[in-house]
Amino acid sequence: MSLTGKTAIVTGSNSGIGLGIAWELARAGADLVLNSFTDRDEDHALAAQIAQETGVEARYIRADMSKGDECRALIEQAGRCDILVNNAGIQHVAPLDEFPVDKWDAIIAINLNSAFHTTAAALPMMRAAGWGRIVNIASAHGLTASPFKAAYVAAKHGIVGMTKTVALETAQEPITANAICPGYVLTPLVEAQIPDTMKEYGMSREDVIKNVMLERQPSKQFATVEQLGGTAVFLCSDAAAQITGTTISVDGGWTAL
Ligand code: NAD
Repeated sequence: MSLTGKTAIVTGSNSGIGLGIAWELARAGADLVLNSFTDRDEDHALAAQIAQETGVEARYIRADMSKGDECRALIEQAGRCDILVNNAGIQHVAPLDEFPVDKWDAIIAINLNSAFHTTAAALPMMRAAGWGRIVNIASAHGLTASPFKAAYVAAKHGIVGMTKTVALETAQEPITANAICPGYVLTPLVEAQIPDTMKEYGMSREDVIKNVMLERQPSKQFATVEQLGGTAVFLCSDAAAQITGTTISVDGGWTAL
């Protein structure tokens, strides 16, 4: 699959799944815009490394995905957006009646609202270019729920719903919108929720991994960022031109249970 000549913007891509997807899109030939809310030398160095190793053009643009105007500015500053991967996301684990309001607001803003703003800014560019791919990184939690993750589950179900709507609005254009629903992937986001989950369930780290996280994943293996990158590249391929408005689970069988 060659994505040469296409420009991909991946939100939240200085780490984890977003970075893995960026690498696979670059290996498939797409020029890249990496993003996060920081502006460190190492953020720009990641873009330089991808460019050097794959031969594509890669830039890092700082924009805070919790702020609607910065989401839109990211797309405008990139200047072109053939492939939009809405990946930025955070997590917080707490019972609903104790869920901190600021955490609820931040999760809904970063995991859901940002995709509304970036998609709204990117669609006119895709229409002008006559081609577009929107890949939203939802979650198994976009299709099922778990206790203590009310905001995350709400945001991920929301992005699955928004994906379907965007797909219907673009159905007769050469633009598709789909959501990838990963199960557990051992990224910094998952590492960070282990201590809180240990507290909520009164379990050791090993038991949280085995009995809470991978308990839901029949394969008993974490999915990898490379597998998610490969799935995103597939959704950008010609073979996927009639795949729109749907979800692809990369969850080791979680949602088959
Ligand atoms: P991660 O913490 O490694 O990466 C999250 C990325 O989002 C980072 O690049 C971070 O800098 C960025 N980000 C956070 N807040 C931001 C903000 N305000 N503005 C811009 N960027 C911001 O986590 P990850 O596991 O790679 O998660 C990536 C996506 O995958 C998220 O949407 C997450 O919900 C989803 N997901 C992860 C898993 C998993 O098991 N890791 C499973 C299902 C879905």
